[in-house]
Amino acid sequence: MPIDRHQLALIIPAMLLCSLGCPGHANATGARDMGIREACEALVEYGKAGEMTFYQKAGKDIIDPDRIKECADITVPNVMQITKIALPIAGVDFYYYKNESDSPPPDSANDKAKYVDVRLAVLLYRLSKMLNDQYGVTRIGHNGFGTPDFSKLRDYDAHLSGRALDLARLEGRIPNDKPDGSTSYRISLARHWSKADNKEQALVGEKVVEGRRVYRLSDSGSSVIDRIAASIFKDIYILATKECSDSSDQPKQNRIIQAPRLPGDLNERGKGRGYILHPDYGDDDHAKDHWNHFHLQIATLKPEKLPPS
Ligand SMILES: [Zn+2]
Repeated sequence: MPIDRHQLALIIPAMLLCSLGCPGHANATGARDMGIREACEALVEYGKAGEMTFYQKAGKDIIDPDRIKECADITVPNVMQITKIALPIAGVDFYYYKNESDSPPPDSANDKAKYVDVRLAVLLYRLSKMLNDQYGVTRIGHNGFGTPDFSKLRDYDAHLSGRALDLARLEGRIPNDKPDGSTSYRISLARHWSKADNKEQALVGEKVVEGRRVYRLSDSGSSVIDRIAASIFKDIYILATKECSDSSDQPKQNRIIQAPRLPGDLNERGKGRGYILHPDYGDDDHAKDHWNHFHLQIATLKPEKLPPS
């Protein structure tokens, strides 16, 4: 049965609180356009709000709400490009898995800390905050971001530099009208977007309009979970168009998107030119390679010669 956005709001009230119109998002500089100092200062604010914990140096100088004074001291001269972040972030835990068949680990086996570029840390906060506020997301399954070992960071590509995230699964709780008040859910790009078992099947469900591959999911999915999936993946994409490398891999060179776009617009630049990769990306090879995850990056995939200061 078709269901419009308003009806969906009745099922999932928390979903519609904002769609990047929230304070802190509307006019904030996207993580992709931040200088290192600006990103550090944003992290300090998240730390003061008690929603994020990070370290300036390996194992030292923890920045948390109990040590606010040190937060204030980070501005200069202690601005650093790489920071160690503790997980969870804004109520969202993360876990790594290797193969699609891997079950989510128990809560206690989540990632604990990662070394990342400070701009990716800003993205992780904003992404986690949106997902937790709007969809009750509590855990993200990923195929990689940052590293728990500082010595493993390499200025080789965006992932190894701590500037990229491969996001694949989400878990959370949504309100319902039953006595317990909420329902848990788990969705993944493989099962709920591609609906495939492997990359060879990834394009079977594709939707092509006037020769362009468009977002195959719609708000009229047959189950509540399908409708959540359609909405949540779209909102991740919309956030990424503001925060991540999108039409350009250079700071301040991305096209500014003024309003959230319709699902059919998801693939607007999907002709091998965009940097946000997903199952409905325009060219076949990239779409297949990302049949089970979003690739979200800050700046270039290659080594970044001059990160903005
Ligand atoms: Zn990736």
